Amino acid sequence: MTRITQQLGAGPTLSFEFSAPRDQVGVDRLRQTLALLSRHHPQFMSVTYGAGGTTRGPTRDWVRTIRREFRVEAMPHLTCVSHTREEVAGIIEEYRADGIENILALRGDLPQGVEAASQAFDTAAELTAFIRERTDWDIGVAAHPEGHPLAVSREADLVHQSRKLSTADFALTQFFYRAEFYEAFVSELCSRGVDTPVIPGLMPPTNVAGIERMSALNNSEFPTDLRKRLSAAESAAERRQIGVDVAVSLGRQLLELGAPGLHIYTMNYARAASEVATALGWPIS
Ligand code: FAD
Repeated sequence: MTRITQQLGAGPTLSFEFSAPRDQVGVDRLRQTLALLSRHHPQFMSVTYGAGGTTRGPTRDWVRTIRREFRVEAMPHLTCVSHTREEVAGIIEEYRADGIENILALRGDLPQGVEAASQAFDTAAELTAFIRERTDWDIGVAAHPEGHPLAVSREADLVHQSRKLSTADFALTQFFYRAEFYEAFVSELCSRGVDTPVIPGLMPPTNVAGIERMSALNNSEFPTDLRKRLSAAESAAERRQIGVDVAVSLGRQLLELGAPGLHIYTMNYARAASEVATALGWPIS
């Protein structure tokens, strides 16, 4: 079974997210991470895309490596900012040749200093429609339970997100640390008639500075009590254990709420992701 919608129909899914590394040390680490995490038998792994096409080749290469060498279904992310329609059509054809059947369609944020070369697509919804016209693939989109930082209001954001999700086959969320954010978001979608499966993204909070930076960018709350607990840890090992425990507890609550799967952000590191997966019922075998 390679379609994510089929996998979702068979019970909660486990998935992991990676990014193409920038140097040889990162390549070696990612290979080790993939070797370990593939032993949890996740339903799929996803590989991020550098907005503006900065990782076009590497994203495709890692998707192929995961499928061929690690025998796990892999889903490329694709962002549309600064791409022309011809470029996106070309990328779709490359993935078609590779046998890809799942894709995550995103708008993307341009890296600092990079100017948008085109405004062929303004939103992920437009990219989704473009892919839909050319393929019969399963198309996922990003969901932002706490709202997107660009949103003019909570209501405008919910209108936009529910419209976008209604055209997608599934969604993966931004990370968050309170299960009630997910519960409220799914309930808002439901009240707007949208029942697209929303897979929550789980980021074990093991790196305080990293979570602080990303939460500020994403408009996610980094709860004060969690920040205090992590900062008070006396060693990196203790901090990592707190991060794993928090992610396991959140993962359990989300599954109890009926989440159709869990998508673990790995930052290309294996240990915390592996411990979280094991504790949540996906042991290594
Ligand atoms: P869109 O859905 O197009 O819009 C983003 C927000 O803009 C909306 O939620 C809404 O608040 C506002 N908005 C847009 N249009 C309207 C409208 N018509 N009316 C009202 N409001 C509107 N980035 C990368 O560069 N590479 C990646 O690989 C990547 N992977 C990601 C994976 C996940 C699971 C998530 C959650 C995010 C990822 N991102 C990635 C980040 C993402 O590109 C950014 O969050 C980006 O700012 C928004 O992308 P989107 O696809 O949600 O955009």
